[in-house]
Amino acid sequence: MDQVLNRKVIEVKLPSNRISEYYGSNVFSEEIMRKHLSEEAYFSVKTSILQGQKIDRKIADQVAASMKSWAMGKGATHYTHWFQPLTGATAEKHDSFFTPSGPAVGMETFSGGALVQQEPDASSFPSGGIRSTFEARGYTAWDPSSPAFIMELGSGKTLCIPTIFVSYTGEALDYKAPLLKSLHLLDQAAVPVCQYFDKNVNKVSATLGWEQEYFVVDEALFINRPDLSICGRTLVGHYPAKGQQLEDHYFGTIPERVFNFMIDFEMESHKLGIPLRTRHNEVAPGQFECAPMFEEASIAVDHNCLLMDVMEKVAKHHKLRVLFHEKPFAGVNGSGKHNNWSMGTDTGKNLLSPGKTPRTNLQFLTFFINTIKAVHDQADLLRASIASANNDHRLGANEAPPAIISAFIGTALRSVLDEIENRVDPNSFDDSDKTELRLDIHNKIPDLMLDNTDRNRTSPFAFTGNKFEFRAVGSSANCSKAMTTLNTIVAAQLIAFREEIDALIKGGENKDGAILRVLRRYISESKNILFEGDNYSEEWAKEATENRGLKNVKTTPEAIDFYGTENAKNIFVKNKILTERELHARQEIEFEEYAKKIQIEARIYGELVYNYVLPAAVDYQNNLLDNVMKLKAVGLNEDHYKEQIDLATTITLHLNHLRAALERMVEERKRANRIHDAREKAYAYCNNVKTLFDEIREHADMLERYLPDNKWPLAKYRELLFVK
Ligand code: ADP
Ligand code: MG
Repeated sequence: MDQVLNRKVIEVKLPSNRISEYYGSNVFSEEIMRKHLSEEAYFSVKTSILQGQKIDRKIADQVAASMKSWAMGKGATHYTHWFQPLTGATAEKHDSFFTPSGPAVGMETFSGGALVQQEPDASSFPSGGIRSTFEARGYTAWDPSSPAFIMELGSGKTLCIPTIFVSYTGEALDYKAPLLKSLHLLDQAAVPVCQYFDKNVNKVSATLGWEQEYFVVDEALFINRPDLSICGRTLVGHYPAKGQQLEDHYFGTIPERVFNFMIDFEMESHKLGIPLRTRHNEVAPGQFECAPMFEEASIAVDHNCLLMDVMEKVAKHHKLRVLFHEKPFAGVNGSGKHNNWSMGTDTGKNLLSPGKTPRTNLQFLTFFINTIKAVHDQADLLRASIASANNDHRLGANEAPPAIISAFIGTALRSVLDEIENRVDPNSFDDSDKTELRLDIHNKIPDLMLDNTDRNRTSPFAFTGNKFEFRAVGSSANCSKAMTTLNTIVAAQLIAFREEIDALIKGGENKDGAILRVLRRYISESKNILFEGDNYSEEWAKEATENRGLKNVKTTPEAIDFYGTENAKNIFVKNKILTERELHARQEIEFEEYAKKIQIEARIYGELVYNYVLPAAVDYQNNLLDNVMKLKAVGLNEDHYKEQIDLATTITLHLNHLRAALERMVEERKRANRIHDAREKAYAYCNNVKTLFDEIREHADMLERYLPDNKWPLAKYRELLFVK
């Protein structure tokens, strides 16, 4: 492989060593808007951001004109509506500002209409049947709550306008629209609960700080491997002699080419206002992580999508490729995207941060316990929100959180919950007891904040002092799916909580007593998901499923089935996050996507075996047999060619098994392809096709072991994992 590598280090020149000098320079920020817009237009946009109101056409024309002059001043020639379709990648369709108006004449235009709404040819985006049955068109609509930006990569600069993507009949066809609805619902649900404690709170926002893990490989090696290029993961590959067993990669020095790549994508991200702060090596060789400061959740989701775009583009410039797949290499740690999530008020308070007084601590406990209760009651939907063919390789593979949803809260908070459970009388709760308990609880909590070592890195949902870290989200996923579900289930829980408390207060009960009594019940009802031990252990899987009645849902089709339940309707439809049709469509899309992914992998297996592995093995076998014949011809006896024959026989053995396993898999694939029902097809791919992959792989990997290095046609793990 060496001859195809381009190991030149691409130097990166930063505009300044002060990031503050170029941070956000490619964003049509509020400040820029204020400068460029008339006062009327500026306030109209602000109101529409704050209250979600529609912008009128005249104002839109003004905004478009100033966006155009700002973007053209920065060198942009084109604009695009930027959106997040259900494919998982972002989508854009570029139009030039330049509009020809006759032969050799034309001018740069951008109207309010073009800003507010576009009709991309959307028929090739997944819609789960929504479009094909009713209306072929979809349209994108400007989402003013997310600022426009200039994408400055490749050959030109493009003004990107964040939009939502909907069908003509009004159904959401993207991740963004339901996320925005869930954020609104959470706000509506959390504010009245906050007001039990603090009347000044008028808005609650979810906050998200993601941590993005990824691999980096050399571009030439990446292109050499059809499995990596097409499926994003290696389907064959012999585990290298040195992988991660020495545990020397984590926080080690970053290879120079990768380091330059990091500086470059960080610079581009900073210009786009993505607040990246952290970079380091991850556990596996060739694996790295970056993380920003947390932001309001919808902005954070946009920024994560944008970052993935930027990283892919910048990597190519460095002759590298970035892998976001959850499990690019078997036997090597996979990648996740931890979603740190919390709720913040317009008064500047983090609702999951323990307070300074007994009163604020009761507020903290209210949101904390309601979140745990939501995760307990809706573990199925949370599991569904992180399900994907890719993530199946990671969840439950003894290196990432298991497919069992549990929560870690640490010993200090555990003892606070125990105390509430033991001391609050479920039936009648005395006022003096209450004051004493509140004080006792308060005295216990501050210790917790100092105890930062009390961390559990194996839990899928871990409390880390002032936020929950949802660790089971996949590295290639759009965070929206997990965040929409989390916001919605917590909101639904807070609504139920408030109804109970209000009823108790109406019935004459004192507010704090009512709150403590309800929280006590929630603790009892949901404590079986609290787990402080090693989530990767077999004992936990046993304990969770046999003694605690928790589910261990290992495959995507089973997880997606949860979207078809009455409960899913109660959560998503009743709370107006998705219509029944949208919910059903999303389930269909996910079944389809799952089957397609496995189908593509299955086909690539065919290509790898017949076009690469088999010819190489036969070629080597011929060499061995030529050698045997020549040794025989000069009159040497069997002692001189016994080993060659032995090796040639071993190769035959693996070739036979390899081909047989592959053909069996192809038969199963054909059978699966004849199924029309999306759900049934997904199950067939999961249970009958995918289950044969390991056997194919085992024999291919044995052949890699036996064949000479110069005869092996695919880049090896050893080469892929250690970027030079
Ligand atoms: P660590 O958990 O490693 O000690 P931090 O507490 O700084 O480090 O946070 C880790 C991640 O959690 C960062 O991406 C950060 O932005 C995010 N984070 C911190 N506070 C919040 C919050 N209130 N809401 C959401 N994410 C947060
Ligand atoms: Mg991490």
